[in-house]
Amino acid sequence: MKETYLGVNVSNLTYSALIEAIFADINKKKKSMIVAINPEKVMKAQDDPELKKLLNRADYQVPDGIGVVLASKLKGGKIKQRVTGIDMMLNLCEEAAERGKKVFLYGAKPGIAEEAKQELIRKYPNLQVSGTLDGYEKDETKIIETINEGNPDIIFVALGSPRQEYWILDHLDKISPSIFQGVGGSFDVISGRINRAPEIFMKFGLEWLYRLVKEPWRWKRQIVIPKFLIRVLMKK
Ligand code: UDP
Repeated sequence: MKETYLGVNVSNLTYSALIEAIFADINKKKKSMIVAINPEKVMKAQDDPELKKLLNRADYQVPDGIGVVLASKLKGGKIKQRVTGIDMMLNLCEEAAERGKKVFLYGAKPGIAEEAKQELIRKYPNLQVSGTLDGYEKDETKIIETINEGNPDIIFVALGSPRQEYWILDHLDKISPSIFQGVGGSFDVISGRINRAPEIFMKFGLEWLYRLVKEPWRWKRQIVIPKFLIRVLMKK
């Protein structure tokens, strides 16, 4: 079920297996946390034991990014396919619409979560979005009240990493949702503010290349992928 790379757990379940497990949690009212694992987070966790503990504390660590899939391949693991944070979120919304569960969107700049909500409803007309809140609201009481108001089953938290993961851990037992997923910049993408790579890049696992060409300053973030793979290989 899980593989470990440089001390960080990653789930090797497919989308459909993950979805079934997550909706079973909702029905049991079990609190669960989903995090996307990529080489950047694993490397950060090497110098940050607190972060490593937090990532491993999550119930579902999805292999976000080609780096983790390659690591699994190199080590004879079972992870064959990326399960990206954003696709996981879209899958959860699609299923939530079908199963009558409610979602909440928390994070990103003012107005973006609302735009993402409209786009999600356009995609999944039966989806119930119990509310939205931007990620710059400071009033803790207001944050908690706004989220609890509509009694959502799933909350997507888009505050960037690792802030969103710490926020989730801190709020798991304070607010009503059962499922908590940290989704980074996903609301910006869903709302259409940021374009995802064309299908062809994604099909061949080259989304990183597309992003590198469009946002060259990202090389500093991407250089971490080969570093990560070398360390995984060197570890027996
Ligand atoms: N963000 C937020 N509140 C903050 C800081 C950031 O809501 O105080 C949002 C920001 O607007 C963006 C997301 O968090 O939508 C961060 O996205 P990024 O792509 O940097 O995160 P990553 O995917 O790298 O974790």
